[in-house]
Amino acid sequence: NSQYGIERWGDGYFSISQDGTLLVSPDPNQDGSIDLKSLVDRLVDRGLELPILIRFNGILRDRLHRLDACFSKAIADHSYKNRYRCVFPIKVNQQREVVQQIVAEGAKLGFGIEAGSKPELLAAVAMGTPEVPIVCNGFKDEEFIRLALLAQQLGRTVLPVVEKVSELDLILKVGREIGVRPTFGIRVKLATRGSGRWQASGGYRSKFGLTVAEVLAQLDRLIEMDMGDCFQLLHFHVGSQIGNIRQLKSAILEAARIYVDLKKRGAQMGFLDVGGGLGVDYDGSKTDNESSMNYSIQEYANDVVYHVQTVCDDAEIPHPQLISESGRAIAAQHSVLVMETLGVTSQGAAVLPEWAQVSHDELDENVNVFSDNNLGENQLDEETLAERLQTEKPQGPPEDYEQPVHDLWYAYKSMSSANMLETFHDSQVSLDLCMNLFSGGYLPLEQRVAAETLYFAICHRARDLANDLDEVPKDLRVLDRMLSDIYFANFSLFQSMPDSWAIDQLFPIMPIHRLDEEPTRHAVLGDITCDSDGKIDSFVGDGQRTKTLMLHPLRPAEPYQLAVFMVGAYQEILGDLHNLFGDTHAVHVELDGGITKIKSVVKGDTVSEVLGYVQYEHRELVEAIQDAVENAVVEDRINHQQAGQTIAAYERALAGYTYLTSHRTPHSEPAAN
Ligand code: PLP
Repeated sequence: NSQYGIERWGDGYFSISQDGTLLVSPDPNQDGSIDLKSLVDRLVDRGLELPILIRFNGILRDRLHRLDACFSKAIADHSYKNRYRCVFPIKVNQQREVVQQIVAEGAKLGFGIEAGSKPELLAAVAMGTPEVPIVCNGFKDEEFIRLALLAQQLGRTVLPVVEKVSELDLILKVGREIGVRPTFGIRVKLATRGSGRWQASGGYRSKFGLTVAEVLAQLDRLIEMDMGDCFQLLHFHVGSQIGNIRQLKSAILEAARIYVDLKKRGAQMGFLDVGGGLGVDYDGSKTDNESSMNYSIQEYANDVVYHVQTVCDDAEIPHPQLISESGRAIAAQHSVLVMETLGVTSQGAAVLPEWAQVSHDELDENVNVFSDNNLGENQLDEETLAERLQTEKPQGPPEDYEQPVHDLWYAYKSMSSANMLETFHDSQVSLDLCMNLFSGGYLPLEQRVAAETLYFAICHRARDLANDLDEVPKDLRVLDRMLSDIYFANFSLFQSMPDSWAIDQLFPIMPIHRLDEEPTRHAVLGDITCDSDGKIDSFVGDGQRTKTLMLHPLRPAEPYQLAVFMVGAYQEILGDLHNLFGDTHAVHVELDGGITKIKSVVKGDTVSEVLGYVQYEHRELVEAIQDAVENAVVEDRINHQQAGQTIAAYERALAGYTYLTSHRTPHSEPAAN
C-alpha cells in the first residue's frame, strides 16, 4: 500500500498494522498505538455518527516538544546565549480544548499564545497564566490596546505588536490614561518575500508592519520621550507554509541585521519574533512545492539560531530571546477526519447491447483472429477470415445502424496492445461523428447509447491493455482519471477541509481499513454538498500529486471508511456552513498506559443549531409544521396518527446531525469492466 505514501507524510504518527488497519502513534518515541478503525467502531457503537473529527492529544503534545527539542538542540550546539519560546497563534485552531492543551503543555516549555483579534485576546488572557506570554498581532483599535495594557497591569506578559504607526500613538495614549508604562513590539516589513500562496504576507507591499524607515523614526521618537525601553520586540512574518528554507534564511538574516542596527541606535529590545511559516510536509515529498517543505524542523531551528547568532556576534550585540509563531507545524497533524463512503458511481459501466456482449476471453480470441491475420506466417486467407468472423459471436450492430456505430464495434472487437492507441483515436472520432449525427436528428437514442457504451468499453479495454505496458502512451494516461469511479463520502468539503477547495491544498487521504488488500479502483471523491466544487480530485500519490486515489471496491452491507489527515491547522475555523452542513462531532483521544481513552466528545451542530445561525427559530419552525399538519388533518389528507408521526419526524430531524445518517444498507458495487 505504498501508493498512499504514509511512510513519507506520516512522520512517525501514522502507519499500517499487520491486519491492514490504520495505526496512530501519538508519541512515536513511546510504545503503543491506537487502532483508528477500532476506535471509530467504538465511537459508532456509542451512537456517534460519522463524520467525526478525531483529535489526538498526544500528537499535539509531541509537536510542542519536538519544536522545543529542536530549538534546544540548536541553542546547545551553537552555544546561543538566550532561550527560545513558541507563541501558538490561536487563529490556527481556536477550539478551547486545543488551546487549553497547548497552554498547559506549552507552559512547561515556556511557550505562549499569539492573538490576532479582540476575541482571541480575550480568550488568551482568560486561558493563560502570568507565566504564559501573549503576543498580539493584527490591527488594533483603542479597546484592543486598552485590554492588552490592562492585562499588563494585571502582571501578564502581553505584548501588543504595532502593525501601523497610529497603533503606537494609541498605545502611548492608553498607557498614559491607565497609568501603565506600556511594553510592545513592532512588526517590520522586510524586503524578503516568501513564496507560494502566502507570499503577499511579506515584502514592501505587505498589509502589516512598518517600513524600516518608519521603525527608525518611531525609535527616535521613543528615545526622545525616554521610552526606548518600552519597545521590546521586533517581529516579522513572511507568510505561512514556506516550502523553501532559503526564503526563511534570507528573512531571518535581514531581520537579524535590522535588529542589531536598531540596538546600536539605542533600542533596548530583547526579543526577536520570527513569525510563522514553518511548514508541514502534507505530501511527504520533502520538496519546496506548495504542499511540502524542503527542510526539517531541526534545520529551521538551526537556521534561526545560527543566523541570529552570527549577526549579533559580528555586531557585538547580546543574543535576543527567540520567539516563533509556529501554528501550522504545531496543530496540523493532530486532527484526523474520518468519514463513511455512501456509494460509488462508475464511469462507463453501462451494460453493452446484447449484440456486443462478449467476455474478455472471447475478445482476446477475436483480437487473435485479427492479429493472426496480420502475422505473415499465420496469415489467414480472406475466405477463412470472413468465415471465422461470421461464426464469431456476437454479430455486431444491426445492419441499419449508422456507420460510426459499426466503426466503434469494429474498433472494440479488433483492439489489441499493438493497435490500441490508434484504435482509441479512431473511436474518439467515431464517437464525435455519432454525437453530430445525434444532434442533427439522424441518430436514434438507442444508437447513441450503443455508441457511448462501446466507446467507454474501448477506453476500459485500452486502459487494461496499457497497464501491461512499461511506458503508457501519453494520450492513454488520461484514462485512469477519465474512467475513475466517484466515491461519495458523508462530509462537506467546505466545512471540513475548506483549503482543499479554496487554495487546492493537498491533504493525505486513505482508507483506515482493508489496507492488507490491493486497492483496485481509481477514484475521485465527492462530498454531499449540492455543489460540483465539493469534490477532491488531487491526491498525495507515491511521490507526486495524482489525479485519482486507489480505493477498494465497496462490499455489500460493509462500511468503508476513509480518513483525511493533517486537518488540525486552519481548517476548522475556516470551514463554512455551505448547504448548512455544520460542525462535525469532535472527539479528543488520549493513549494512556497503552489504553485508548476517549477524553471528551464535542457534539457537532444539530440541524436546529445551524438553522438558528441563519435566524430560523426552532419554535417558529415547529409551529409552522404544526399548522400545515393541522390543515392536512382538517382536509382529511392524513389521520391523527400520521399527523403525530409527521411532527415527531420533523422534531427528530431538527435535533439530529446535519450529515446524512449512515445506514448500513448494501452499498452498490462498482461494475467490473
Ligand atoms: N503569525 C502571523 C502574524 C501570521 O499571520 C501567521 C499566519 O499566517 C502565523 C503567525 C502562523 O503561521 P504558520 O501557521 O505558518 O506557523
